[in-house]
Amino acid sequence: MSGRRLKFILYIVITDYYVVTNPLSESPAILPSIRSAIASTLAKMAEQRTIMFSGSPLNRLSWLRTSHSFLNAIVPSPKAHWLLFKSGNPLTVKTETKSSLSYLSTKDVAPFIGEAPYFGQGKTSGILAADEQISATEAVRHRGAPIVFLGLHETGSSGTGALPSSEFADAEKALEKIEGAPYFALDVTDLELEDEAIEAALKETEPAKSGSTLAWLDSRSVMMNTDLFNGAIFAEARSMCDWNSRNKFCAGCGARQHSMWGGWKLGCSTLMPWADNTGRKPCPSGKGLHNYTHPRSDPVVIMLAVDQSGEKILLGQNNRFKGKFYSALAGFIEPGETFEDAVKREIWEEAGVKVWDVQYHSGQPWPFPASLMCGFYARADSTKPVRTDLDNELADARWFSREEVMTVLKHATGSYLDLAKLAEASSQLSNDPNEPPFRVPPTTAIAGVLIKDWAEGKVQFPPFSLTPKGNL
Ligand SMILES: [Zn+2]
Repeated sequence: MSGRRLKFILYIVITDYYVVTNPLSESPAILPSIRSAIASTLAKMAEQRTIMFSGSPLNRLSWLRTSHSFLNAIVPSPKAHWLLFKSGNPLTVKTETKSSLSYLSTKDVAPFIGEAPYFGQGKTSGILAADEQISATEAVRHRGAPIVFLGLHETGSSGTGALPSSEFADAEKALEKIEGAPYFALDVTDLELEDEAIEAALKETEPAKSGSTLAWLDSRSVMMNTDLFNGAIFAEARSMCDWNSRNKFCAGCGARQHSMWGGWKLGCSTLMPWADNTGRKPCPSGKGLHNYTHPRSDPVVIMLAVDQSGEKILLGQNNRFKGKFYSALAGFIEPGETFEDAVKREIWEEAGVKVWDVQYHSGQPWPFPASLMCGFYARADSTKPVRTDLDNELADARWFSREEVMTVLKHATGSYLDLAKLAEASSQLSNDPNEPPFRVPPTTAIAGVLIKDWAEGKVQFPPFSLTPKGNL
């Protein structure tokens, strides 16, 4: 048995004893090493856990995004998988009972991606930009809807997806070494095509000709209709298509901007070698890094406060989902805050509760449109009052016992499954004795994972201390 594992078991024994016998006393001297053991164990748990939308199976090959030689060479791959979106909703194959993501071939998407070259486009249609080493034209796509290169699903065992960009001077030779399927995404909304033309083109695709029914699926229903592999690809694709689609003008100077780097950068049209900038001030995006030219992930803290006994958690009912739906509290991280600061501020603002001992649990990309949910537990004192009248974001917040939560988790409909229909369903809840007393999110959402892991006793804390730490 390793020293660390022994230390952790010792911690559990000591903590159980400590909490039972003296729950409100100060932390013992052993605390720093205990904290370290807990942090290490939680980190290991987070690594082993796979949460919907996380754990991407693709090698993103991000260092090759600037190479139009690479990107243009793999677009025609017979193994290419294209995930199409329309206004953020993915194309799916629909059956009577289920919808699953539909991947199209490069041949199928030809009407949507336009003519070659797809990346590194020059001033004139059909001509490559003269030199891909000029940063303004690196894998630029200023003609046609943005195409996002999601990555390569490697099927070979040789790891040849790790090719250096220099090898793509001879793209065809380099491609021979790549084993696997490239994945791309594209949103058809901004194409100069009428809806009828889009639908007609879809009817000519291989899946449609083989008898499949293709349909755009409400994006929030995807998590109920997919597995972890496809969920992770969808999350990356949706966030990236959305980001490209909603940033058509340069935040630095207001000029049109276009897609670059296989959809992973936006470039200002005033920076193109052929731009006529007479009378314009230089665009600030021409120098340095800018958070409006690179994709964004907006971090959100989502957390459960666990009380001094370890037997109660604080859950809130959002104003938008009134009824019997309770979930973890959450909020965006603000500039100038750490994760811990945001956890403390949000629980205070929404429920009037002060917390400490903030501990990371796991994360979940949330592509609606670009959030990164960061899951935490924190310690709090449930003998203190709860109040929701500070920011009035919650209709209710209260402490629930492990027994109450377990009753809901064991109930057939206790973890509500369809977030898209949540508001409607919650308002329809009645006093039917067959209904659960309240509902919590499913484990496809990180809030559901936090609740379930705590309820099943998988969460441990250092000994409870009455002295709040941190800035509240
Ligand atoms: Zn600009």
